[in-house]
Amino acid sequence: MKIQTQGLIIRERTIGESDRLVTVLTGDEGVLHAFARRAKNLKDSKNSATGLLCYSRLNLYKGRDKYIINEAFPLEVFFGLRKDIGNLALAQYFCELAAELVPDGVESGSHLRLVLNALHFLSEGKKPGTLLKPIVELRMLSLSGYMPDLVCCAQCGAYEAGRMYFKINRGTIYCEKCFLETGDPCAVLSPAALSAMRHIIYSDFEKVFSFSLTEGALRELGEAVEVYTIHILQKRLQTLNFYHSLF
Ligand SMILES: [Zn+2]
Repeated sequence: MKIQTQGLIIRERTIGESDRLVTVLTGDEGVLHAFARRAKNLKDSKNSATGLLCYSRLNLYKGRDKYIINEAFPLEVFFGLRKDIGNLALAQYFCELAAELVPDGVESGSHLRLVLNALHFLSEGKKPGTLLKPIVELRMLSLSGYMPDLVCCAQCGAYEAGRMYFKINRGTIYCEKCFLETGDPCAVLSPAALSAMRHIIYSDFEKVFSFSLTEGALRELGEAVEVYTIHILQKRLQTLNFYHSLF
C-alpha cells in the first residue's frame, strides 16, 4: 500500500554503505520506522530529507511489518540549529523524548506540532532553550497520558500557598502544612513556577509557549519538570546527559 505523509526525522541509523533506517514522527501515523535505500548517497533526493531533524514530505510503501521510503522531499531543515551546539543537543533531546513517548501508528498531530514549534523557536533563536525544555517535556508527557494533577493541594484542596511542593512519584502538589505530613521526595515550587506548570499543561496549544519567568522561577520549573520526566521514563536519556554535559 502506498501512502504519503509528512514527518520529522527523530532518529537515523546507517545500514550497510548507503542505506538508512529512520524513525519518523508523523501527525497521522504516529511514530513510524522506515527504510530508505541509497539515502546516504549525496546525489539522492532522499539524502537531506531523511537526515536527523529534517521535516519532510514522504512517499512510503507500507509493507506487512515495515515502511519503505520511495521518495522524500525536505520541507524544513531547521538550519539555525546547527549554529549552536547547545540548541542542537536540546533539539536531539526533544527527538529522543518523542521517540520514547509517542506510540507507533496512533494519530499524533499534537506531539508533532509541539516539537516542530519548539524547533522553530530554537532554530530562530526566538526563545531560550531553558524555557522551551520544560514546555516540551511537560506538555508531551501530558499528551502521552502522564499529566500531573496541579489543580490544588492533594490533601486539603488549597489552591495557592507561599510555596507548594510537587510530589514527583505521584504527580500531585501539596501545601507546606500537608507536605510536612508526607515523606516522599518533592520539588519546591514558588507561585510563579507553579502557575507556569499549570499553564503548560492546561492552556490551549496556541498559548503554550507564551509566558516568561524570572531566572529563579525558571530554574525551579526546569528542575521539577526534569525530575518528573526522568521518573516517568524510569531512566535518563542519553541526549539529556549530553545536553547537561555542555553547561
Ligand atoms: Zn494542603
